[in-house]
Amino acid sequence: MNELIHFVESAVGFELNDKLKLILFSLSCKKACYCQLRISADNLDEKHHFEKHLKLLGFPFIVSKPKPYEEIVKVKKHWLVMDIKGIWYGYDVFQDDGAKRAFLRYKQLLKKGRISLADRIGGGLYGYPVCCTKAFIHGKAVFSPKTAFVVHGLCSVNCPASKKQNQKNISLIRKNAPGFYREFSKHLVVNAEVVVVEKLPENDYVACLKRINGKYVLFPLDVRLYPVGTVLKGVLRTRYNHASFRPERAFLRRILITRHLRGRI
Ligand SMILES: [Zn+2]
Repeated sequence: MNELIHFVESAVGFELNDKLKLILFSLSCKKACYCQLRISADNLDEKHHFEKHLKLLGFPFIVSKPKPYEEIVKVKKHWLVMDIKGIWYGYDVFQDDGAKRAFLRYKQLLKKGRISLADRIGGGLYGYPVCCTKAFIHGKAVFSPKTAFVVHGLCSVNCPASKKQNQKNISLIRKNAPGFYREFSKHLVVNAEVVVVEKLPENDYVACLKRINGKYVLFPLDVRLYPVGTVLKGVLRTRYNHASFRPERAFLRRILITRHLRGRI
């Protein structure tokens, strides 16, 4: 089991939230887990390596077909260039065949439109408290950075079952995955420029124009007042899987977002 956790801690193809889910799954906190693995020239062996660990531990899994993903490759004064960086695979991973069968039933019920029953089965598989599963079914789940070590939306920020689960997950992760615990808990406070990249119904995606750990980073932030391409200057704070940004000045310049222009600018 520890070998899978060590692999997940050091793998570069998983986002932090997926690492959290996989570590909790490895520690038997969940019967099933969904995660995405990104493969690029930097980590070509990780797909094989990940599947080898799953097979050794006898965890059944279903892997999706590969799909391309984009990353920001270049930021110039008036341009932000996104390009295909590699491919990603979605994995549904299960503790045993019973969990896999329950998952297939869950998918079937979703297809038939029997959403509440499907979500009750899903909530059980993914280890959500019953109160939060109910809130999710009614579209009322909320997220709080105070319970960053649970991966579900909460019925309320004060949900006792989620708080208890959060505490339990913190102690399990500190003990069994200390490297991930440190990485996940790190506070980052930087003066940053971000650009609004995409408008989505609930959140807008913004890109940080300063490289963080060598990479331009995309965050979902609420900056709905600003059109795509606006540059904002302010203080960016990240901790756990949560980012907040306080704009101090908007639109120093407008930026054009473009895709797949390899070698042209
Ligand atoms: Zn709850």
